[in-house]
Amino acid sequence: MSSSVALRLPSIDGLLRHPACAPLAERYGRDSLLTGLRQLLDELRPGVVSGQLAAVEIGPEVLAGRVGERLAQQQRGQVRRVFNLTGTVLHTNLGRALLPEEAIEAVQMAARYPLNLEFDLGSGKRGDRDDLIEGLIRELTGAEAVTVVNNNAAAVLLTLNSLGARKEGIISRGELIEIGGAFRIPDIMARAGVRLHEVGTTNRTHARDYQAAIGPRSGLIMRVHASNYSIEGFTARVPTAELAELAHAHGLPLLEDLGSGSLLDLTRWGLPAEPTVRQALLDGADIVTFSGDKLLGGPQAGLIVGRRELIAKIKKNPLKRALRVDKLTLAALEAVLGLYRDPDRLVERLPSLRLLTRPQAEIHAQAVRLQPLLADVLGEVWQVSAIEALGMIGSGSQPVARLPSAALCCRPQVSKRWRGRYLLNLEAALRGLPIPVLGRIGDDALWLDLRQLDDEPAWLAQLPQLQVDR
Ligand SMILES: *Cc1c(COP(=O)(O)O)cnc(C)c1O
Repeated sequence: MSSSVALRLPSIDGLLRHPACAPLAERYGRDSLLTGLRQLLDELRPGVVSGQLAAVEIGPEVLAGRVGERLAQQQRGQVRRVFNLTGTVLHTNLGRALLPEEAIEAVQMAARYPLNLEFDLGSGKRGDRDDLIEGLIRELTGAEAVTVVNNNAAAVLLTLNSLGARKEGIISRGELIEIGGAFRIPDIMARAGVRLHEVGTTNRTHARDYQAAIGPRSGLIMRVHASNYSIEGFTARVPTAELAELAHAHGLPLLEDLGSGSLLDLTRWGLPAEPTVRQALLDGADIVTFSGDKLLGGPQAGLIVGRRELIAKIKKNPLKRALRVDKLTLAALEAVLGLYRDPDRLVERLPSLRLLTRPQAEIHAQAVRLQPLLADVLGEVWQVSAIEALGMIGSGSQPVARLPSAALCCRPQVSKRWRGRYLLNLEAALRGLPIPVLGRIGDDALWLDLRQLDDEPAWLAQLPQLQVDR
């Protein structure tokens, strides 16, 4: 059966005049509304032409409703807050460290007002942005000099290029790592213009291997923290102090990329030991590079610290200008570093450290408290339990170490063949909440690790909106 009158889309002008669209024009502006309506009508036209759409689907109220939803979504923006209940604290895909209030205030100040970014208030002359935090970083690391760039990958690239271009960089085969996101040490070396001279083997590299590689073309020795992997068993690694001695005997600088690089010994808070920047320098590394947003707990940044004349060389490299740190980051970094002056109160003030050290008993108590509320929303199909779970630090720090935590573990009570689908549906529903909730699927269950559930009221408030497809 074919209808006698062909269906036609309403006109743009007609829609713009329609009462259902008036509040949208008021709220989002006439231009945005017009663009939204045009896009929607363009999308619907083929369906109208082919007769697949019914008249009710293209009525003005319906179209206004759909455009309104789109405009609301656009206004909300693409950069969105989420709940990180994955169990990985410093999650690279979820923005790593959360900033302390002091840093947030500093960012606001730097965003809102002009500041002395490159202006020396003492002399009234032009200044250097590194000078703003040099004193603090020297105090906290014992370094002679400091420069800061956009992230640690940039720090490694810049350092290698400044000190080793057209020369050989000697590095152990066990340290030719990939960090993820296509950051591979051999590639970065090549891009920096440093010829890779790999020595030793994957599991064992000795001082004599480095010794044999040193020659007239050598430019530097590099050491890279293995970060996201660990070599166990029959292994050998030359201690930094010994490697530094060897490098210096041949007039070569020793670079150490610490990756996460901690400023303090984390074992005092019961966390796994990580090499500290100060210790690497004391051991004789000439330049140490590390991230601002990993264990340091600050903004994304790459810190380069070490010997004065080498830092001066790095700062003269034109690439420095291309990789430089911005004012918001610098403001946040100074505030975070300032907190390190009082280590006794650091755990209360630095969110990443507070989250990393949250006691399991406290997290478990929270899980027990929330379990009935989630179980109620999910209904009978789901078995929800408050149980112990293991999380991790993330960002390549201590890949093998686990953080004893607790989670809400959601198991669908359905036959094995349906389980995967139920889990994916629940995962998608949690992601679809106003503040998306991200957990992890494993062992036929969906786990919400509560270590990082700080804002319980906001999490609870949106729970009734959870709608799981079967
Ligand atoms: C994480 C890491 C990097 C990269 O640091 P970003 O701050 O993410 O750019 C480089 N080297 C090592 C050893 C790392 O762990």
